[in-house]
Amino acid sequence: MSDCIEWQNYRSEDGYGIQKYRGKTVKAHRLAYCKANGLELKDITGLVVRHKCDNPACINPLHLEI
Ligand SMILES: [Zn+2]
Repeated sequence: MSDCIEWQNYRSEDGYGIQKYRGKTVKAHRLAYCKANGLELKDITGLVVRHKCDNPACINPLHLEI
């Protein structure tokens, strides 16, 4: 598996990357997954984007799956 890309900005207490997107505070890995797969955040509402690498700060789309 390729290397993790760790989110370098603000992180939540549980280790997830956090960023602002269109006025909302969102988890960076969810947004990374959407951008890599041509989806909008609303398309994955209610779904869990999990880390195959078990690194919550990771935003490498190759490490993410629904
Ligand atoms: Zn990773």
